[in-house]
Amino acid sequence: MFRNELEKLYSRNLIRNIKDREEGQSAARIIIDGNEYINFSSNDYLGLCNNPYINRAAKNAIDKYGFGSGASRLLSGGTSLHSELEREIALFKETEDALIFNSGYIANISIIPIIAGQGDAIFSDELNHASIIDGCRLSKAKKLIYRHRDIEHLSELLKKEDAKRKVIVTDTVFSMDGDIAPLRDLYNLRDSIFSSSPDSVLLYIDDAHGTGVLGDGKGALSYFGIKPESWIIQMGTFSKALGSYGAFVAGSKEVIEYLKNSARGFIFSTALPSCLIGPSLEALNIIRNDPTLIKRLWLNQERLINGLKRLGFNTSNSETPIIPVLIDSIEKCLNLSNYLLRHRIYAPAIRPPTVQIPRIRFTVTANHKEEDIDSLLNVLSEYKE
Ligand SMILES: *Cc1c(COP(=O)(O)O)cnc(C)c1O
Repeated sequence: MFRNELEKLYSRNLIRNIKDREEGQSAARIIIDGNEYINFSSNDYLGLCNNPYINRAAKNAIDKYGFGSGASRLLSGGTSLHSELEREIALFKETEDALIFNSGYIANISIIPIIAGQGDAIFSDELNHASIIDGCRLSKAKKLIYRHRDIEHLSELLKKEDAKRKVIVTDTVFSMDGDIAPLRDLYNLRDSIFSSSPDSVLLYIDDAHGTGVLGDGKGALSYFGIKPESWIIQMGTFSKALGSYGAFVAGSKEVIEYLKNSARGFIFSTALPSCLIGPSLEALNIIRNDPTLIKRLWLNQERLINGLKRLGFNTSNSETPIIPVLIDSIEKCLNLSNYLLRHRIYAPAIRPPTVQIPRIRFTVTANHKEEDIDSLLNVLSEYKE
């Protein structure tokens, strides 16, 4: 079964393999098949995914509430930790309310189809995350794709389109390129284009890689100094910088009430166990009380990207801890990735169809030591194609 399909993938060098870890991750190390690597592949930007306080919070939640949740939130699956986390997220994001979703993927495919329906139009950046693309596919709205971060192109499309509601959807930090959406310009579009009918526009941002990373951890809006508005919906995840699991959406009371009553991935799916919620609460506490983590992350980001540029690598427009090194062929990209593996450096080759231009995608975290980054740069400086 599926032999032909698999053969096609093999012949194009597109077969992927799962590599499972044998131990917890800490100090930016990963052990695979008994070998230890410096890990540049994790989204654990603040080094929280094996933090003792967070681990403790999971154990405490199990002791108090048990492991399983047993039902959806609308039945009896939630606990007081769930509502506490939603209150804390709303405070953190300075919105009226918030709602937990089981994952970022589920949030996007559940929310986008109901904020943009029949008669509406979605305007989506061409490099948006796959979960946004799938959310758009599930929507009955008309879909228009604008060129990556291209405000001119977007405003052209917006002006031409006649729709009840126009929903602009974008990643804040693009997950394969590490560049940042021009949120200030997107924000200003509303005044320039929609001044006569401001209620017809919505901005939906996916802050999966911005939460805990940008704007003192508060995310992309805060980074741009934009205050949350009733027409902005912020989605984010606990699974990246916060080292936990699950996702949230933050916005006005009205939006959140609507989502609670309409988002199918919320209504028809079992609530996250509280042992995944306690850790997210603890992670929020940690990043609010310890600014040194985020500071360390950005010092490391600077050290790595400057080093890569000095060596002449093409880091595209990266301006975050996601730093791609673009390589012009899949084969060369796999060669470099294997070379790094032989030198005990773990960084994945990302290939089509995930991206157009093959690349090694380095992610740097607060857990890396200066020596780790320098080792990577040394190994790269000795690479011969
Ligand atoms: C990781 C990611 C998601 C999915 O989040 P999960 O909680 O892992 O399902 C959604 N959007 C973006 C931009 C992401 O990077």
